[in-house]
Amino acid sequence: MIQLEQISKSFGKQEVLQSIDLQVKKGEVVVILGPSGSGKTTLLRCINYLEKPDAGQITIGDLKVDTKHPTKKEIHALRQQTAMVFQQYNLFKHKTALENVMEGLTIVRKMPKDKARTISIQVLEKVGLGNKLDHYPVQLSGGQQQRVGIARALALNPEVILFDEPTSALDPELVGEVLSVIRKIAKEGITMIVVTHEMDFARDVANHVVFMDGGLVVEEGTPEEIFQRPKEERTRQFLSRIT
Ligand code: ADP
Repeated sequence: MIQLEQISKSFGKQEVLQSIDLQVKKGEVVVILGPSGSGKTTLLRCINYLEKPDAGQITIGDLKVDTKHPTKKEIHALRQQTAMVFQQYNLFKHKTALENVMEGLTIVRKMPKDKARTISIQVLEKVGLGNKLDHYPVQLSGGQQQRVGIARALALNPEVILFDEPTSALDPELVGEVLSVIRKIAKEGITMIVVTHEMDFARDVANHVVFMDGGLVVEEGTPEEIFQRPKEERTRQFLSRIT
């Protein structure tokens, strides 16, 4: 249901993504692993066009976009069908948790306020923040702020949620609460692509694991294949460093 074909991206002379192919089935959780600088974040950002790929095709459901010559309508549609959860949460500081979640629905989706409020309360309850609706980001812990970030993505009801190292900015004691929220929504069958260094989480939640290095997909497979029987030396080396 999501297919990337030959996605390439350079920054100046540096080829950050070299003809990446990736398939994600509906309801699947795909985890992308790889050393820092391997192109993981850039790949995620290309999927919703926060970064413009130089070439390649992106297919999400019925939408097929040639990234070299996309129409404005296609870019808009790609963004409508994806939602991103950022490393640094990216919440509006002068808006409450509820207002942060409502914003995407009222402004981007043009939804009436009442309906947006109802949906936003539901998703904030789902991430365990039903009692923090009127709190501003500064009044929330990092873990709570990231859960608002997740609620904001969920509210949009996208085809796929893209997680860019969602726990890497958190103090260690706050990582667990965020991972357990992600686990919970994964069980509900929401399609996700997750860039993370949390190996236990990846082992546990991923249906499919992709190992990237140097702008290439070096190896991919089930968590068992990648963690227990990696075929490529680069994968083995990475896993021995990180686990
Ligand atoms: P990862 O997520 O695997 O750490 P990134 O996708 O963030 O890797 O980065 C891949 C490479 O692209 C890095 O060398 C990084 O410095 C470079 N890069 C990323 N974004 C930009 C940008 N906006 N301008 C120039 N170089 C960039």
